[in-house]
Amino acid sequence: MSGQHPTPQVWSAIQSAARSISRRRFLGSLSIGGAAALLAPAATPTFARASLHTLSLLDANIAAQAGASYTLPPLPYDYAALEPHIDAATMRLHHDRHHATYVTNLNNALANYPDLQGRDIVDLLYHISDVPEAIRTTVRNNGGGHLNHSIFWAIMGPTGGGQPIGALLDAINTAFGDFAAFKAKMTDAATKQFGSGWAWLVLDGAKQLQVISRPNQDAPVMDGLAALVGVDVWEHAYYLKYQNRRADYLAAWWNTINWESVGKRFDQARGA
Ligand code: MN
Repeated sequence: MSGQHPTPQVWSAIQSAARSISRRRFLGSLSIGGAAALLAPAATPTFARASLHTLSLLDANIAAQAGASYTLPPLPYDYAALEPHIDAATMRLHHDRHHATYVTNLNNALANYPDLQGRDIVDLLYHISDVPEAIRTTVRNNGGGHLNHSIFWAIMGPTGGGQPIGALLDAINTAFGDFAAFKAKMTDAATKQFGSGWAWLVLDGAKQLQVISRPNQDAPVMDGLAALVGVDVWEHAYYLKYQNRRADYLAAWWNTINWESVGKRFDQARGA
């Protein structure tokens, strides 16, 4: 049965490939100024700084902000609105506790950095490499948590499910073959995200749709990507109702997507 295990040569190749991927991801995280694109020509095209205003338009309004402090945006529907797919108790815990904590931690991190206060959250994360090292990881995790959850609430709704229409559906068909193939790819990315993280449908800088996954609260905008749909696969998103059954949660989650909201995000991002 030795055929089931990699030979030393194959194992070495796997490790080499993993290092290469890791390096590209690292470079991708630095590709804001464009210099890294020269080092990593195969990297995903990213939105340029000039397009940042459009990314901001997508999310600055839903990641509510009041003066110098970030604020928790109200859930745009009732806690029970997504039942039976996502239960009210989970929504209450997720929004009122988890999301609120990201906002509090983000504000606390910026307390001694007045120059960074009041920036829209998309701008702050897009330029995460400019954030002082002392608070960079905290801003990355909690700022990402704030933005990601703000998007998450906005792209779900009580009359969700089904399929997108119009230009978004056309783009999905072009990128993935058909809606079922996209759904399978997104579900696969969410299922295989090891530990806590998210799967996303994003638009890259070449205006191509992509399915990606990211660990922890890493936001697609940090890589210059416009987030269209995100699914939270942290256990706090599903364990009250689904325990450890991430697959069951994902299957139900598709019934919550507000495709009209996603279509507006797509229209805004592709116009950037
Ligand atoms: Mn969450």
